[in-house]
Amino acid sequence: MSEKAAKVGRGLSLLSGGLDSQLAICILREQGLHMEAVVFKSPFFKIESAKSAALDMGVKLHVVSFTRDILELIKDPPHGFGGNLNPCIDCHALMIKRAGEMMRSMGFDFVATGEVLNQRPMSQRRVALEIVAQSSELGDRLVRPLSALLLEPTQPELDGIIDRSQLLRLNGRGRRPQMELAKKFGLKSYPSPSGGCLLTESGFCRRLNDMRNRGALDDERLVWMLLYGRHLALPGGGKCIVGRDNRDNAALKQARQLEDVMIHTVNIPGPTVLLPLGGTPADIELAASICASYGDHGGAHEVMVRIHQGEHTLEQSAPVVNRELFKEMIL
Ligand code: SF4
Repeated sequence: MSEKAAKVGRGLSLLSGGLDSQLAICILREQGLHMEAVVFKSPFFKIESAKSAALDMGVKLHVVSFTRDILELIKDPPHGFGGNLNPCIDCHALMIKRAGEMMRSMGFDFVATGEVLNQRPMSQRRVALEIVAQSSELGDRLVRPLSALLLEPTQPELDGIIDRSQLLRLNGRGRRPQMELAKKFGLKSYPSPSGGCLLTESGFCRRLNDMRNRGALDDERLVWMLLYGRHLALPGGGKCIVGRDNRDNAALKQARQLEDVMIHTVNIPGPTVLLPLGGTPADIELAASICASYGDHGGAHEVMVRIHQGEHTLEQSAPVVNRELFKEMIL
């Protein structure tokens, strides 16, 4: 056997935790390659599935922050959005580009993904796969083991690091071959292929789009706050976030900075209300009334609230009104 053929190749695979990304790793490992995985973290994608999949498979997982990257794409994605604020082609290309940078700095031979040709209408058509390969600047070091036999051979295949004959020719939306492979490799836990990214959910994207329109996407703290509470646009131009439960309330309290105004009820259970970056006096009065009205007021007309503004704390009575009046303000 030549020295080249004897080399154990090292691959870095994108791992979402979904079945296809797990299979890509299994297929490459089956031929003796050393595989590690990377998952990209941001407010929009949960990484728990990737973590548990990596644990189940015994694969080392690298967790890489992607928040700044994805926010820049949401401002102006070169290849546009999918159905909501999901810039899938550019998002995917940038993740692969970041994985490519890791490949070079950490001594991997290639980057792998679980992409399947024609599985998704926007991001996995042949032309989209080519755009992703080009934009990611990874070129022929990007391996898609599930559809490799329908694509041009990559450099690690030509170099004999990867045995092309053991790669697959999956095509389209059918899931049966994947389910059979899952059985073969003993994979039991994987989320549905479509779920998981908040950028594909219209309710969440309404709130995110409000931030985008306000030019506020550079403030990562405010973007993380989109994960908590009801968001209401206030007439004076600010917005307030109303905690829906203890988890939201605790998160809002923890996120509060001195420039934010925070309001909560004094003598009754009620929400924490946060006005990020403060608000006009009229907006703060309205937010106090919102806080009172979402509290457990038992039919009272007024409720005591505590308003924290800068270093100062003020207690005052706030009117309880019908919550229907706030409906139009909800983002
Ligand atoms: S679904 Fe979300 S995470 Fe996946 S490529 Fe699209 S924008 Fe990126």
